[in-house]
Amino acid sequence: MTSFDLTGKVALVTGGNGGIGLGMAKGLADAGALVMVAGRDAQKNRRAVESLGASADAIAVDMAQDSGPKAAVDRAVKKFGRLDIVVNNAGINIRKPPQDYSLEEWHSVLNINLTSLFVCCQAAYPHLRAQKGGKIINIGSMMSIFGASFAAPYGASKGGVVQLTKSLAAAWAADNIQVNAVLPGWIDTELTKGAREQVSGLNEKVLARTPAGRWGVPDDMAGIAVFLASAASDFITGTAIPVDGGYSAAG
Ligand code: NDP
Repeated sequence: MTSFDLTGKVALVTGGNGGIGLGMAKGLADAGALVMVAGRDAQKNRRAVESLGASADAIAVDMAQDSGPKAAVDRAVKKFGRLDIVVNNAGINIRKPPQDYSLEEWHSVLNINLTSLFVCCQAAYPHLRAQKGGKIINIGSMMSIFGASFAAPYGASKGGVVQLTKSLAAAWAADNIQVNAVLPGWIDTELTKGAREQVSGLNEKVLARTPAGRWGVPDDMAGIAVFLASAASDFITGTAIPVDGGYSAAG
């Protein structure tokens, strides 16, 4: 279907060198987009670009630094000549009981998961407006909806992602910029490998609670990325769409 075609579109995917970000980047590249990956680890970036093919490049950048988001946006525009799609996916978690977090840990989670996402949207805005439209896809979580006793700053950041998404959607709809959030369920990545090691019984709980009866894989995230990046979703903005095997629908 032509409305899903991304030929000639340019996408920036933060944290696109692994996990969910790479799954989404592959979907976008398969649909025809030119993809700029932004991640800190140059080796992971290189491997991601190899797997994405000739239509991809990467920038080694810490998106949590004040200057990181603008550097990533500028690199995408310099390399590919324009910017149409931003996937704000870079994120971390620190797991412990809420009373045990230091202020530094709180800030480190909020900085990358929420603040850098906002700064990246700000950096992208003039380019999207100049193109007379664009797509922003922000990655939330099941913890945008549910509380997590072992991840309070993460839950706060991901709840913030959903509300920020609605505010940006309302502000920028007149510029033909659609801003949506994706709420992944439990996806098998480096991030959740850590969770499985740290939270006893998590694997069994996820399998029992997820109606689909399995963990998601990064490739499960490709379809929603293409949909929300393409003309097929032009009248959809400000939403938060679970991609979770039914996790959020089940009691
Ligand atoms: P991974 O740990 O596999 O990937 C995280 C990505 O973010 C990596 O590419 C990493 O690259 C990048 N990243 C982290 N910090 C920074 C930084 N400061 N600057 C630039 N890049 C950074 O995790 P997932 O793929 O699982 O997670 C991706 C997103 O999805 C996160 O926002 C996460 O919260 C969210 N999510 C994940 C779920 C899951 O079940 N896996 C569920 C719900 C949400 P590098 O290390 O090279 O910087």
